[in-house]
Amino acid sequence: MINCGDCASALNSYLDRELSDDDIVQVRHHLDACGGCLYLYQFEESLRRLVRVRCQEQGAPESLRMRVTMTLAIERQRQEQSGRRPPHGIRLD
Ligand SMILES: [Zn+2]
Repeated sequence: MINCGDCASALNSYLDRELSDDDIVQVRHHLDACGGCLYLYQFEESLRRLVRVRCQEQGAPESLRMRVTMTLAIERQRQEQSGRRPPHGIRLD
């Protein structure tokens, strides 16, 4: 069984479909059981969808990438402040 830190660090690979079948099952199980990670997953997934659509529309301007990165950082900070332990491997400084 993986913990929130493992889940968070596997999330990008999971969304990129770069995980082994075994790891995918582990992440899915954790997302089923953990609302915080599920929220993070849904947030990252919708962000990716947004970026993908925007990229198709107009290429990938650096300003958009920056904005998305900022949004993500703010969101993570917000989650941290709401009492959730920040995932391993993610630094906000
Ligand atoms: Zn979790």
